[in-house]
Amino acid sequence: MSRRDEGRSEWPVPRIDPERCDGCGLCLRVCPCGALERQGDKVVVARPEACDYSGLCELVCPRQAIQRPFEIVSMEEPESKA
Ligand code: SF4
Ligand code: SF4
Repeated sequence: MSRRDEGRSEWPVPRIDPERCDGCGLCLRVCPCGALERQGDKVVVARPEACDYSGLCELVCPRQAIQRPFEIVSMEEPESKA
């Protein structure tokens, strides 16, 4: 099941800074989901719905061009049965 099948319409995806990206392609090689795509001499997140947010692309990028925005999720405490 993809993240989009789980009932959420908006998910954070990695941001790629085109000013930093030199198109080396390392992120493309490690992405297990096919979320990234080369467009000209840059890489973009072409299929955000496929991204599992693993962070592998961010880890391997030698130019720190990729960042994953954090999402703050508020969770309610389960109701006490006392
Ligand atoms: S690893 Fe970084 S510099 Fe290389 S193509 Fe991907 S985003 Fe661009
Ligand atoms: S976070 Fe993971 S799935 Fe998403 S683009 Fe990067 S390597 Fe691919």
